[in-house]
Amino acid sequence: MISVEDALKKVLSFIEVLKPEEKPILEALGQVLAEEIRSNIDVPPLNNSAMDGFAVRAEDTYGAHKSSPVFLPIIDQVAAGYLSNKTVTSKTAIRIMTGASVPDGANAVVQFEDTDEVLRKSTKDSSSTIGIKKQVKEGQNIRFKGEDISMGMNVLPSGTLLRPSEIGVLASLGYSKVSVIRRPVVAVLATGDELTDIGQALIPGKIYNSNAYSIAAQIKRYGGTPKILGIGLDSIESIENKINEARGCDMLITSGGVSLGDYDVVKDVLSRRGEIAIWTVYMKPGKPSAFGTITDGDKKMLHLGLPGNPVSSMITFEQFARPAILKMMGIKNTAKPTIKAIIDDDVINSDGRRIYARVAVSKIDDIFHASLTGPQGSGILTSMTKANGLAIIPENTRGVKAGDVVQIQMIDW
Ligand code: AMP
Ligand code: MG
Repeated sequence: MISVEDALKKVLSFIEVLKPEEKPILEALGQVLAEEIRSNIDVPPLNNSAMDGFAVRAEDTYGAHKSSPVFLPIIDQVAAGYLSNKTVTSKTAIRIMTGASVPDGANAVVQFEDTDEVLRKSTKDSSSTIGIKKQVKEGQNIRFKGEDISMGMNVLPSGTLLRPSEIGVLASLGYSKVSVIRRPVVAVLATGDELTDIGQALIPGKIYNSNAYSIAAQIKRYGGTPKILGIGLDSIESIENKINEARGCDMLITSGGVSLGDYDVVKDVLSRRGEIAIWTVYMKPGKPSAFGTITDGDKKMLHLGLPGNPVSSMITFEQFARPAILKMMGIKNTAKPTIKAIIDDDVINSDGRRIYARVAVSKIDDIFHASLTGPQGSGILTSMTKANGLAIIPENTRGVKAGDVVQIQMIDW
């Protein structure tokens, strides 16, 4: 039996970052850049106004005050998206809207609020003069060309995870497509003669195949593309056939069939077709697992054999399959976010394995508290639905007492 950390290291040692693909930028959300993004333009591409107001020469406003405004003739107006073909010469102003190109000759913008604009509007004054009531400094209320991004700049290095802000930056540079590490296709095979697929009537002796769906949902959540292979029966032939259907996928995840029961044949197939690197991990739930590679012609595919019990399969997925998927996608930080919390229940560790206890974490008076979500049997899947965290009860201890501080993996973070 090996520790969770050693097992994870081993699993990750089999994983390579996948090849890039070209994608429309919005579809690339959550993927990792496979190219360096340099800017071919300045952003913004023009000096533009940060306010609705009047483009002026700052020096013409010096001394302007509420009680003694400076009056300037308005020689033109310019809206966002347009250019004025006039020049702001000494003692003139051009009416300008936010985002509009600052006309030649102007070096500042006076916002409407600092003029008599409102008064003129309310009195329907149609003269083409504006009273400036506050002086502006050179450059005031102007967004300068290239102040965000200058032409030629290395804006996003290769390896950057694309979040909404990066998608926005790509769009601001005019990129419609981008090269990103592709998402892994992960085959999911549930094994067991007892399984019935959803949509079918349940006959005596059978249970619904929930694992294929919880596992596929986890794959999706972490950025992979699941390919559900259906149900493999507890026979070497059935499982062999199903494994053949995983051909071309980046990873195969099976559930069940890896314990020591009479019909646990997944491990037999694996021993014949591949290499098993790890049999059992020192954790609970989740002890019986089989991680290794399956040989398919001259190719090797990573295989994670998760335990059949529904909670065990989900928790072992979190510990091993999630980081594997993230690594394939080129994501460097594969550690699940953890917090420290006070545990509100005793948790007894009877056999020394590391326990991942399902807990509901909440903040009370600014301190995180974690309480067990109910019975912790590895078949009680509803205890996962009530949990937003997994409390880590350290291995080789007798457990923890209510009031102790524990590390919690936050499932939804
Ligand atoms: P196994 O590891 O194959 O011995 O499976 C252990 C237990 O997990 C079985 O007795 C079932 O109750 C349950 N189980 C196995 N596979 C599934 C599945 N796909 N969906 C729901 N429960 C399952
Ligand atoms: Mg089974």
